[in-house]
Amino acid sequence: MDFLPVFINLRNRHCLVVGNGEVAVRKASLLQQAGAVVTIVSPQPDKALISLIRGGTVHHYAAHFHPGHLDDMDLVIAAADDTNLCQQISAEARKRHLPVNVVDKPDLCSFIMPSIVDRSPILIAISSGGTSPVLARLLRTKLESTIPAGYGQLANYAGALRERIKQHFPDHTKRRIFWEKILQGSFADMILAGREQTASDWLEHTLRHETSSTLQEEEQKTGEVYLVGAGPGDPDLLTFRALRLIQKADVIVYDRLVAPAIIDMARRDATRIYAGKERSNHTMPQESINQLLVRLAREGKRVLRLKGGDPFIFGRGGEEIETLSEHGIPFQIVPGITAASGVAAYAGIPLTHRDYAQSCVFVTGHLKNNSVDLDWPALTRPKQTVVIYMGLIGLPVLCRQLIAHGLPPATPAAIVQQGTTRRQKVLTGSLETLPGLVASASLTPPTLIIVGQVVSLHQKLSWFEPVENLQDTGATPPEAEPE
Ligand code: SAH
Repeated sequence: MDFLPVFINLRNRHCLVVGNGEVAVRKASLLQQAGAVVTIVSPQPDKALISLIRGGTVHHYAAHFHPGHLDDMDLVIAAADDTNLCQQISAEARKRHLPVNVVDKPDLCSFIMPSIVDRSPILIAISSGGTSPVLARLLRTKLESTIPAGYGQLANYAGALRERIKQHFPDHTKRRIFWEKILQGSFADMILAGREQTASDWLEHTLRHETSSTLQEEEQKTGEVYLVGAGPGDPDLLTFRALRLIQKADVIVYDRLVAPAIIDMARRDATRIYAGKERSNHTMPQESINQLLVRLAREGKRVLRLKGGDPFIFGRGGEEIETLSEHGIPFQIVPGITAASGVAAYAGIPLTHRDYAQSCVFVTGHLKNNSVDLDWPALTRPKQTVVIYMGLIGLPVLCRQLIAHGLPPATPAAIVQQGTTRRQKVLTGSLETLPGLVASASLTPPTLIIVGQVVSLHQKLSWFEPVENLQDTGATPPEAEPE
């Protein structure tokens, strides 16, 4: 070990930063976040530094560095380009036994600055010992995505309870078991999901009725359902929270639209249940899905109900949650990127645009008895984008109706097949021409239809280059459209 990691208390301590530019500003700001009193030495501060100085929270010497600046300092950071100057600062600081860091020059440092994952009061410092700061930063990114944002809050909560728990469980081992259980169990989940009141009620109940030995059984008895949006196809569009819950779940109940690569992220021992829906072949009726979720949760399982896109947008998520709520099953809901935003982004079609569309509506184009019952006057307003889900089969009817209710036949329209995946295909035309184009194109669902002037931007803003690769089943969505 070349450096010993320590966390240093700099509150109200005097720290000197010598240098200019973004790096000096970054270091000074970091020191300030730790409560230090910061002085900057820079003869000619640049723009970034001037705005920090003007902010009035740092002292500034508009001078060249001289050893006298180190008097009464507790710590020094040199962020200067001039190597001789850096050597001098390092030598002078060491003479005074002051901790010194010289940016990007580990040889001149008595301490180095780690990459930080900040979930205050939880802090994770990562160092490569000066060998590869970029590697340390990449590692940090990985940690950032796996440690929930609410971890600091969880720590604060635990801190506030410490004394009380100490009294409740005087025995050290019992206390440790208690903490291990609640910091990984339902209590932690509730805090991380922002349900502090529920967490606090749960804790009170537990402390009143349970001892540490029965806690484990209690934990196992209480199942929970996570209703999670898996996004439109590309697994990279998952949210951090979705990923964490996928990896935590005991059972995954997933729909047809969820990419296989996302289901693969689940624990190896997790049970996978396909509840998919095809257009004319409902594998599992909605009522059975609702009951299944209730039953699994009652068995004490952590159940992940995984849905394509966002669960609350044409996802029937509301109905499933209603049943859970009626049965008193705890649940949380994690939004996902809905097809409209994901697909439009990957197709280079902005859903709103100051010149073309000030509003955007999402509708379902699902046919019932060969017709679509929509509020046509509302859909044919000017300067509006209309996004149609489940509209492939009804496309000719939809285009006809939009024209009949006043949209010009030349209104730009697009259909996007399997958006955000390697099989994405975008066809553009107008309300008049699109049905014909689609008839001869043999598209594979899911497909999304976008109508409005914004579609004309597709050529200019298109950036995504899907690679059609039939061997690859990674992020390939299903064959049929769900309802
Ligand atoms: N809850 C989902 C929508 C479910 S309805 C969401 O928020 O996205 C299913 C419809 O969504 C499909 O028929 C199709 O119109 C649309 N859709 C979903 N994923 C899509 C994709 N990758 N490309 C194009 N359309 C998609």
